[in-house]
Amino acid sequence: MNAVAAEGRADKTRARWLETLEHFREDRDAPGSQQYWSPRLDTATRDELRAIQDAKVAAVVPFLYENSAFYRRRLDRLGLVPDDVRTVDDLIAKWPVVDKAEMAEDAIANPPYGTYTAMSETVWAERGWMMFASSGSTGAPRVFRYSHVDREMGAWANARALHAMDFRKGDTVFMVTGYGPHVWAWGVQYALEKMRLPIIPGGGMDARARANIVLRYQPTILLLTPSYALHLGRVIESLGADPRKTAVRTLFVAGEPGVSVKATRERIQDLWGARMVEFYGCTEASPHVGGFSCAASQPETGPVATHLLEDIQVWEVVDAQTRQPVPDGTRGLTVCTNLNTESSPQLRFLVGDYTMLDRTRCTCGRTHARAIGSFAGRADDLINLRGIKMFPTQLEEAVRAVAGSGDEFEIVLATNPDGLDVMTVRLEHASHETPHEVARLVASEVRTRCEVQVAVDVLAPGTLPKTEFKAKRVRDERSKT
Ligand SMILES: [Zn+2]
Repeated sequence: MNAVAAEGRADKTRARWLETLEHFREDRDAPGSQQYWSPRLDTATRDELRAIQDAKVAAVVPFLYENSAFYRRRLDRLGLVPDDVRTVDDLIAKWPVVDKAEMAEDAIANPPYGTYTAMSETVWAERGWMMFASSGSTGAPRVFRYSHVDREMGAWANARALHAMDFRKGDTVFMVTGYGPHVWAWGVQYALEKMRLPIIPGGGMDARARANIVLRYQPTILLLTPSYALHLGRVIESLGADPRKTAVRTLFVAGEPGVSVKATRERIQDLWGARMVEFYGCTEASPHVGGFSCAASQPETGPVATHLLEDIQVWEVVDAQTRQPVPDGTRGLTVCTNLNTESSPQLRFLVGDYTMLDRTRCTCGRTHARAIGSFAGRADDLINLRGIKMFPTQLEEAVRAVAGSGDEFEIVLATNPDGLDVMTVRLEHASHETPHEVARLVASEVRTRCEVQVAVDVLAPGTLPKTEFKAKRVRDERSKT
């Protein structure tokens, strides 16, 4: 092969991809209206959205073929040339989903980053980059780099989502995060700068110091995990103050299932007298949000919903076993085609959260798909106890359903002396000295939701460690045979 010609194709397809991204980026630096950051994109017809997606697919596939070893190998293996995949329909029909295992194999074979990226070391050096690591609850961390082009695209997409979540002039955002390599907090940071909203960084301090910032500087929005929202509220109470009387009006959560876990959501919203909103996404399909809460995300009746951004990503739900697409309204696992980055476009990546999609227009006016019931758990997180499968969030609902249960709890899976796998729920409760009634109630709530018998340990308040970032609720000590 002629190396000069190959380089020419790599550059040409890159230029075309970057032009395509620019072409469809509207309202770059300021909102187009009070209601929508990008009014035309946010309320585009379904046909218009599909046309944008098709134009992006037609540009990104040749770009990946010429610039990413991972994608070229996969297209070759499937017997495809870039011209075979020009639309979303082509993609769904011809390109099987990519899962984390396939990405991990590539990273192990080609350390430390793998070959999925469309950036050569020369382009990386020219653009500059920032590293992020996935914070998934299972497996080794997966590492990703994003360039300043990605950061700009990400800040724009996130500003659209934050605007939809009612972040406005007059708000002050307290970033209750350690500023580790988590794409969520950094992506929000850059979006807030674009939106010209005040930011208080909250890294490198303990909960008491953070509580004092809330009381003294009166931020209106807190960015934090759901577990930490509970913890920080309790710390404020321990200082003799009332979280409901602070200036906080919005709790912006991510990192753990939040809005979807009704009992936890209500407990947190009640503690703070504030509305909970969330981002949904994954490091692989970043550096921007996948889903966000609009004004209609918590209806009076019916399930909660999370909006997705369809002009920058293609969202599908597939069957958990066959990985074939299922119709809207059917439960399955999320798949994302990410079309908003130079370094890491993804074609049909299996994000793997259970939900169902609705593509009818939302009462907020947006036309993009919504995840109904939001996201209650990732397939990787399913607990399998003697063949009975359940999500940690179902157990969380059960514990929270019992009046007076503490904020922290844990699930311990172990193998008993008879070789039987058993589960114990450990929670804190003021009635720990007479635990029988609490234990009976918790066991009953778990049985109703998960159809499984559990042992219950009722502990004195303050026994379990406080969650500082993401809660580690499940401890699996089963002997593996
Ligand atoms: Zn909406």
